[in-house]
Amino acid sequence: MIVIVSGPGGVGKSTVVAELLRRNPGMRRSISVTTRSPRSGERDGIDYYFVTDEQFTDWIDKERFAEYADVRGHRYGTLKCSLESIPQSDIVVFTIDVHGGQAVKRLFPEALAIFLKPPDTVELERRLAGRGADTAEEIAGRLKLGQYEMTFAKDYDYMVTNRDLSTTVDIIDNIIRNVQRRQER
Ligand code: 5GP
Repeated sequence: MIVIVSGPGGVGKSTVVAELLRRNPGMRRSISVTTRSPRSGERDGIDYYFVTDEQFTDWIDKERFAEYADVRGHRYGTLKCSLESIPQSDIVVFTIDVHGGQAVKRLFPEALAIFLKPPDTVELERRLAGRGADTAEEIAGRLKLGQYEMTFAKDYDYMVTNRDLSTTVDIIDNIIRNVQRRQER
């Protein structure tokens, strides 16, 4: 079963998915490819496959991506092989941006698409600033992008507001279980 978790940058997708997987050792996350540099603590092959621009272009030419998108000057992509032949009983979580989410949903309409929404813009700004990874200019750009990204929410199967981590993960956990039960019938 493919589970897509999308939403505006900074909404907390990675944290939510990390907690979801911590609680459910049977679930796994798909590893995307990116041209951005690793942040501190991130490891190649675990958080992302970190590649050069040339490598990314080569993989586009070789049609290895199911989808790829530009997010703030860096490229991110989902490899076809990470989507193929996932047994229905396996739960694989894809933490991707709205374009990627839409593309994967188009290719795999049976995928469960969850949109993570910030409680409000002020909260999103606080989270982006708190992360300390971006400059003020980058944060402003991210917020503008976030407003655009919010327009994709309607294409998702479920919309979950990320108020607090534990509740958000409870809700997502429940959605996955219910959908899985329904599909097994
Ligand atoms: P970050 O650099 O903060 O890890 O991620 C930036 C954005 O890229 C996030 O919205 C993240 O979900 C998105 N992203 C990560 N992997 C993929 C992918 O494989 N495809 C697409 N389209 N977006 C991705």
